[in-house]
Amino acid sequence: MSTIVEILIQTFGKECVRTRDEASVRVASNWRQTEHLNCLALLRPKTTEEVSKILRICNEFNQPVVPHGGLTNVVGGVVTKPDEIALSLERMNGIEEISVQNKTATVQAGVILQNLQTVLAENGQHFPLDLGAKGSCMIGGNIASNAGGLQALRYGVMRNLVLGVEVVLADGTIISSLNKMVKNNAGYDLKQLFIGSEGTLGIITRAVLKIDDLPKSKNTAFVAVESFEKANLLLQVAKKQLKNDLTTFELLWQDYYRLMTSPPSPYSPPLPQTYPFYVLMEALGQDADKDKILFDELLENWLQDGLIADAVIAQSQQELEKVWGIRENVDLIFSVHSPVFLFDVSLAISDMDDYIKKIRSDLQQVWPSLHFYAFGHMGDGNLHLFINCGTNDEETKHLVDAIVYQPLQQISGSITGEHGVGLEKKSWLYLTRTTEEIELMKTLKKALDPKGILNPGKLLPD
Ligand code: FAD
Repeated sequence: MSTIVEILIQTFGKECVRTRDEASVRVASNWRQTEHLNCLALLRPKTTEEVSKILRICNEFNQPVVPHGGLTNVVGGVVTKPDEIALSLERMNGIEEISVQNKTATVQAGVILQNLQTVLAENGQHFPLDLGAKGSCMIGGNIASNAGGLQALRYGVMRNLVLGVEVVLADGTIISSLNKMVKNNAGYDLKQLFIGSEGTLGIITRAVLKIDDLPKSKNTAFVAVESFEKANLLLQVAKKQLKNDLTTFELLWQDYYRLMTSPPSPYSPPLPQTYPFYVLMEALGQDADKDKILFDELLENWLQDGLIADAVIAQSQQELEKVWGIRENVDLIFSVHSPVFLFDVSLAISDMDDYIKKIRSDLQQVWPSLHFYAFGHMGDGNLHLFINCGTNDEETKHLVDAIVYQPLQQISGSITGEHGVGLEKKSWLYLTRTTEEIELMKTLKKALDPKGILNPGKLLPD
């Protein structure tokens, strides 16, 4: 009797099917890139029909399948066991249609986010999902993880940017829900089921995305504030005065800023390192001259009023890259402190300051020489924490997780604002979701994937 890999090779050919040995030249994950891929086979379908046929065969053989996009997931969502098949969407990378008039782009799931942005820019258009991993992550992965990123304050998260999807279910059924309308109330909004489902409910093969006119102005400032309260006030004032143009509002605690602007960082400090908080704010607009005048005036006023303590406005591409580098160069943390635990909690802005103070102090009681870095998308209530306490054994990880996650339950926060649950957070899901919610998730999983072949062991608690 033929094995499933032999059947897959016979059916789809070697261009589509890579054996274990052939697949092992790849990394298991593009995040940190420490291990090689070890899977039963790596499949690279070219069409939705091929994905459908593959899943039909895998379902028949009870064969687990792990969807692979750009592999930038940071919560173990793409971890593939030796007896599992990896299904990469990388060859389904076509941009099928850009409609400037209807403000939609129809794309295959394997399109790399940055490639889409480049092609759209050539057409005067803009897809406003922006994240550090944009050069590798794919639209299918962005949808499956409901990515957020650096412009969510203005444009929302992936959930707000997708109009329609095409999905293949575990048994091979193709669900074509490539809706292009903003308003469509004809029954359940099925796409929402798959957005953020982390590959557990279906394979996303195509999508219709909302696009917008490419902004004509970009004004970026890096400012220092004297307190968290002032940072929050600045956010409110900037929202009112810059209106819809305010696109990014990123907060950096002092420790993070110091690390990012001290050797071995390539960046010198644009502002003194003595302030407790720093904000990177960016406004995108449609009138280059007017927008710049307004932005400069507002900065001037905020300085005079004492709302901000100090500021630099990025005047060149080099300065722009520098302030963004200070915010985004997280790899530096790993080169300076290893091992590092990474978190992406969500909570009300009004709870942020106390929460960070509490967990920093709770962690320091256990590890007095701890390194603790906080920063993130303040405007969206979503913070990243990078924590180094010397070791990364299971017991330490569990204790750090408990200290970071448990206080979130009381303040109705979330254990993840954007990275998702994957393998890493599933045992903490109960802190953010009720028992009934988790049971309903399990019911949906059973209904759509009764044999449990899609990304098994991820997202849902055992
Ligand atoms: P993958 O990592 O390949 O997969 C992600 C999950 O989706 C996995 O569970 C996978 O099984 C599943 N999946 C992938 N493709 C499909 C598909 N076609 N159908 C069904 N399931 C699928 N995330 C943010 O939200 N905001 C950020 O600002 C952000 N910044 C980041 C910065 C860096 C430097 C890095 C490394 C990561 C960052 N991330 C961020 C996390 C990550 O980039 C996002 O989650 C991204 O959306 C994942 O896309 P991907 O194509 O790499 O998906």
